[in-house]
Amino acid sequence: MFKRILQLLYPDVCFACAKTLLDAEKLLCTNCLFDLPRPGFFLSKPNWLSLKFDGWMEYQDAQCFFLFSEGGRVQKIMHQIKYQGAQNLGYFLGAWCGKELNKYNCATIYDLIIPVPIHQERLKERGYNQAMCIAEGISDKTQIPISSQCVERMSFSQTLIHQNRQDRFTVLEDVFQVIDSREFLGKHVLIVDDTLTTGSTMLALGIKVKTAGAKKVSFLALAALQ
Ligand SMILES: [Zn+2]
Repeated sequence: MFKRILQLLYPDVCFACAKTLLDAEKLLCTNCLFDLPRPGFFLSKPNWLSLKFDGWMEYQDAQCFFLFSEGGRVQKIMHQIKYQGAQNLGYFLGAWCGKELNKYNCATIYDLIIPVPIHQERLKERGYNQAMCIAEGISDKTQIPISSQCVERMSFSQTLIHQNRQDRFTVLEDVFQVIDSREFLGKHVLIVDDTLTTGSTMLALGIKVKTAGAKKVSFLALAALQ
């Protein structure tokens, strides 16, 4: 009863389009569930996403679940996961992504998920790492274990908008540090992040992990800019 009154006063709305949700809907409305732009997994290479990684390191695959565009619904979703405390939405979409990955038997491909770490100061201020929420959803559905303590982020990323690709990469080279390589030695690591624009951050982490002994490295972003 009380819940009902609360719902009338503060109706649950879709995180993507802000439409009031029906009783059976959760976090996103049915329309958005079907309609959000998804490119599909394991596209043949080279493709628009692999081009962001090709030539920088030896990697297996680079994929994303959603496409985002400036001002679009996916960008709105990602903003809420990252800055508005919507950890449950991150987990929910990670779990959905995990279910889709299961269609490709991903548990037989990847041995370990490493969510891109955020800096300790940022973690304190935000209270959570959005990449971790997403990774937990993926892990729960695929049963691929997560390692969140093997690498750490040493510095806040600087504003990279005005730098070219090589400069961005040089800046990012020392952002991550390996704490314990035993967790991923000889394993196929799937690096998971919330959003991917240039791919430089994921690449910087991927190179660290590969150099420190991972057998293979792949990349998965919940949303990527095409
Ligand atoms: Zn919606």
